[in-house]
Amino acid sequence: MRPDDSRTAPRGFSTRAIRAASRIPAVDQTPTAVPIYQAATFAAADADELADVTAGRRHGYAYSRLDNPTTAVLADAYAELAGAEAGYTFATGMAAIHATLVTLASAGDRLVATSTMYGSTRSLLEGVLARLGIRTTFVDIRDHAAVDAALAAEPARMLYAETISNPTMIVADHVALAELAHRHGARYVVDNTFASPYVCRPLELGADVVVESATKFIGGHSDVMGGVVAGDRATVAAVRATQVDTGATLAPLAAFLLLRGLQTLAVRMDRHSATALALATWLEGRPDVRSVAYPGLASHPQRAVAARQLRAGGGMLAFDLAAGRGAGPAFIDALALPELTASLGSVHTMVVHPPSTSHRQLDEAGLAAAGIGPGLLRCSIGLEDAEDLIADFGGALDAIRTTPAPSEAPALTAPAGSIG
Ligand SMILES: *Cc1c(COP(=O)(O)O)cnc(C)c1O
Repeated sequence: MRPDDSRTAPRGFSTRAIRAASRIPAVDQTPTAVPIYQAATFAAADADELADVTAGRRHGYAYSRLDNPTTAVLADAYAELAGAEAGYTFATGMAAIHATLVTLASAGDRLVATSTMYGSTRSLLEGVLARLGIRTTFVDIRDHAAVDAALAAEPARMLYAETISNPTMIVADHVALAELAHRHGARYVVDNTFASPYVCRPLELGADVVVESATKFIGGHSDVMGGVVAGDRATVAAVRATQVDTGATLAPLAAFLLLRGLQTLAVRMDRHSATALALATWLEGRPDVRSVAYPGLASHPQRAVAARQLRAGGGMLAFDLAAGRGAGPAFIDALALPELTASLGSVHTMVVHPPSTSHRQLDEAGLAAAGIGPGLLRCSIGLEDAEDLIADFGGALDAIRTTPAPSEAPALTAPAGSIG
């Protein structure tokens, strides 16, 4: 033990200010909210303890890029809700995905991944990972024979899917895909962002690792960013080691906000789901809507998989305007309630037109191959009143019908992989 610091008195103003302003209070009563440990460093009792904590020989805290008490509570809470042995947190969802992928794969490895995925994940695979010598084969994960063939063609380190895919609302059959991956010696990794652990628990269905953008439904209020990963203890320890060396650390304040979000996740997801189902059902009855993709609808092509794996339909739906590509932005501009933003998973309803935003790099053929209709609108249904949203969507559909859409290529016939 080190001597009491009173030994060094008398002291100058700066020394006294620094000591006085960093005294940690003893709190005998437990706070009902997790304290925000806004500290980069944690002081050990002596040099041996510091060495043991930094080396991981003893549980504790030394430096917040490695571990922080507030972020650790979130990691453990997510692991518990995901049904995992262990969890870890990141500054963003992409940081969680990046750390997971580069931990599980090395130069020369090949991955098999769903062809309908979040845009940044696709560019991570085709950009950073490809440059590092990790190749990806993209497959339609609804076609289990194609997944089997892709896994069999050459050794594959991993099969990567999303529980509900962006923006076409394809539902991955986790039980079947995990079985296929394992038969070929690959790990099955799932991005569960669109579902959240309340709606789906991929690890209980056979997945090895689950990643999520906590920015979305876990945070739930579009005011904080974060990412989480959960899986077996050894895998999560390896992913944490990557994160320690790459540094996309979740801030303690962000962890606090995400913990607050996690506490109301179930009630929010139930309400998101009920409102999304009401809106999806209403949209299906509109003649100016070509198709509606929502996992909670009886018309969803993977209705049976959704019913087996999802507790509710979730907050995400997509629908294709019969009027085509030019009508998408016009519809968005005619809406009054939704926020004009590209994100999802918030109290606010958010509507995007992927053919002119996240998927603008795709031409008509590319869109068709991805199953994205030219008038597809992806909606993240918020917590506003359902009747207000239906009235707003109805008003926007009426407005674009009376406004001629800009000239455009004739509507594509829906490919086999299309929604609806
Ligand atoms: C938003 C999102 C991500 C990336 O998360 P960030 O927190 O924005 O980095 C990854 N996957 C899916 C499905 C997402 O929606």
